[in-house]
Amino acid sequence: MKRKITVALAGNPNSGKTTIFNNLTGARQHVGNYPGVTVEKKEGACRHGDVDINVVDLPGTYSLTAYSIEELVARDFIVEEKPDVVVDIVDSSNLERNLYLAVQFMELGVPLVLAFNMSDMVKARGYEFNLPKLSGLLGAPIVPTVGHKGQGMEELLDAVVATAQRTATRKSAFIGYGKEIEEELRKIEPLVARDEALAGRYGARWLAVKLLENDKNVREMISSPDVLDVVRQSESRIEGIFGDPPELVITDRRYGFISGACQESVRSTVEARHTMSDRIDSVVTN
Ligand code: GDP
Ligand code: MG
Repeated sequence: MKRKITVALAGNPNSGKTTIFNNLTGARQHVGNYPGVTVEKKEGACRHGDVDINVVDLPGTYSLTAYSIEELVARDFIVEEKPDVVVDIVDSSNLERNLYLAVQFMELGVPLVLAFNMSDMVKARGYEFNLPKLSGLLGAPIVPTVGHKGQGMEELLDAVVATAQRTATRKSAFIGYGKEIEEELRKIEPLVARDEALAGRYGARWLAVKLLENDKNVREMISSPDVLDVVRQSESRIEGIFGDPPELVITDRRYGFISGACQESVRSTVEARHTMSDRIDSVVTN
């Protein structure tokens, strides 16, 4: 039983991350920088039951690519510091877009809790979630929260502590990329697995996906030019088949996975559709 855990708060900009960070840590926080960069690092502390929780506020990001310093900082922190739990603050009133980041945490295989923040807006917009179903499809616990009202914080901490104490590794959802991409991944994976230290840290599949996504930072980690040759050949095969570079095809598949999960577990309420069309009618008739 761990008495001290580290939790990383992640999420898209404006998802309510700072609000929830403040709710959790109150005055117990301090600000510094991530090493070597000017990205602000806020840390705070709280206690839940008999567990001391160190909360680290990651930079707000839409993705985890190597294209921006914020995304790289978030990714490096998770891989290098291995927080016990990553809490992804999701603006659940804008679900599909926000789940894109969540899917990338799943691919990294980190212990994940999803805070479905802005859940007051969800009702107002006429959506209803089947949370047990969605949680099963995504392979992570989901806690509805209303950040600015402080709602759901105890439940969020319950889920965080339970996830940190889980000894059996919970299986994250598996995102398949379709026959053609999977075929190329099968060629690249065993090659990157030869570097045991690297593969141990990131996972061979994750590295292979990132290489196909043309991730500059991951490319620089690969010392063997032969591996990069194989990746280049895979890229041109994919581009030949789809007419798009692999990173676009991979992005499409991630959204496909999200959209499939949402179709099964999100419904628009009839009343909301009525209010919406009533409103449109009154706008039109006025
Ligand atoms: P951040 O960019 O992720 O750090 O987002 P902030 O914490 O700064 O929140 C952005 C805005 O959303 C602020 O005006 C918050 O008061 C508001 N907010 C936070 N949580 C909720 C929520 O659950 N519902 C609603 N309606 N607004 C929220
Ligand atoms: Mg903020």
